[in-house]
Amino acid sequence: MHGYDLLVVGSANADLVIGVDRRPAAGETVLGSDLATHPGGKGANQAVAAARLGARTALLARVGDDAHGRLLGDSLRAAGVDTAGILTGGAPTGVALITVDPSGDNSIVVSPGANSRLSPADVRAAGSLFRAARVVSAQLEIPLETVVETVRSLAPGSRFVLNPSPPRPLPAEVLAACDPLIVNEHEARVVLGDLAGPEPEDWARELLALGPRSVVVTLGARGALVADADGTARIPAVRVAAVDTTGAGDAFTAALAWRLGLGEPPAVAAAYAARVGAAAVTKEGAQVSFPTAEEVDAL
Ligand code: ATP
Repeated sequence: MHGYDLLVVGSANADLVIGVDRRPAAGETVLGSDLATHPGGKGANQAVAAARLGARTALLARVGDDAHGRLLGDSLRAAGVDTAGILTGGAPTGVALITVDPSGDNSIVVSPGANSRLSPADVRAAGSLFRAARVVSAQLEIPLETVVETVRSLAPGSRFVLNPSPPRPLPAEVLAACDPLIVNEHEARVVLGDLAGPEPEDWARELLALGPRSVVVTLGARGALVADADGTARIPAVRVAAVDTTGAGDAFTAALAWRLGLGEPPAVAAAYAARVGAAAVTKEGAQVSFPTAEEVDAL
């Protein structure tokens, strides 16, 4: 019996956002808007997205013993995420300092903080979470050796899903465990070393040759591509008026991981995830923009 549909192993950040007329040059000070503080980080985003859809979700992450850590805990609990796997201490909560100009272009400085202290030992100590999880998902805002230990800790029969973001070349052991590896164009380029050909089908074929059992390429407003040994399928995007695409990839990945764990065929699960991603771009923000199952059905 699986107690969790999804265990997310990943990052939790506070996003500190200031609007500016123009982003400062070196040595310059500019005045900006009031500070907005939002819960973020790809791990926390995925966990919130899945839980809002109704998935029984747990997060294994590390935050600081500080106000940002408490903000994240509150946001995760409000979405229904089981926070028993959230560890505290070692460094301040991870922070993203974001300045946004009126055209929407931003400059971001990330301090990984406690995310960089989420260790292989933390993964080994979370055996009961792994044994209870149908699907485990990870991203790369935590140390790579922690992702390697995550793969080694998978319970028999549980599925592993990886969005390699921010991207870097991946060890064969991690690639072989992915079902699927979920990448956008930029991530595909870094994982492959270079893009194989002009079409997403080319990238998917090259990525599959690296060892994952399946690959999903996300293409923003052009939808997604699902590929495995049986072939490839294009998943059209749902047409919506995009307001803010922040977090669309995290919402898509969480929804896909959950639905695959329920036993849906990859193309069916990806079509559902595309609706979740589309719903997420119709609202400002990341976690606050993630839809409930009712909102997805209404789309
Ligand atoms: P991000 O890093 O901005 O969170 P990403 O690059 O990882 O995103 P995207 O490909 O932008 O991921 O988005 C994931 C999925 O969400 C897409 O495959 C698509 O199905 C859906 N989606 C994203 N943007 C749009 C859009 N403008 N209209 C409709 N669907 C969208």
